[in-house]
Amino acid sequence: MKLELKPLKYAKEALEPEISKQTLEFHHDKHLQAYVNNFNQFIEGSGLENNSLEEVIKSASGPLFNNAAQVWNHEFYFDSLTDKKGQNPLKKTEALINAKWGSVDKFKEEFEKAANSLFGSGWAWLVVINSNNELEIKSESNAGNPLKNGLKPILTFDVWEHAYYLDYQNKRAEYSKKIWNIIDWEKVEERLK
Ligand code: MN
Repeated sequence: MKLELKPLKYAKEALEPEISKQTLEFHHDKHLQAYVNNFNQFIEGSGLENNSLEEVIKSASGPLFNNAAQVWNHEFYFDSLTDKKGQNPLKKTEALINAKWGSVDKFKEEFEKAANSLFGSGWAWLVVINSNNELEIKSESNAGNPLKNGLKPILTFDVWEHAYYLDYQNKRAEYSKKIWNIIDWEKVEERLK
């Protein structure tokens, strides 16, 4: 299996001012492209060439896992963002959030806390943990992906510095707060199904 760089579903300037065109030029065209290239190199001769990307993530370790997971994580992250700004969680998602955290505001506060307190590089995830659609927030370092633990991700924030440094410098908390405005809650709702 050879991967190709998946195009963004919005124009690179369409997420401004929350995320700049310049950030997406580096983040999508350079960083994600590098993970795709590395994956294509490491999958060769691994014995996992005929597996899906998800299967590779579940069974691989080392550089193959890191690059496979970073491709999946970034496609999922870029798909979690939208130029249709100012959305709120849709019906089903909102009910599940309220059941767990009492309100969407409280959930956002907890999610930001997870994103901002993660030491170094990594990802904050909203995941479904069981067949009752119970939600939980998870932090993962580096390329960490909840699929590895049998969980179902429905939203993620990339908190590697390359995701926000050009726009927010060291202010990760500001990035975590601002990007709620460009979250694609329709996509999140779709992932629950
Ligand atoms: Mn990234």
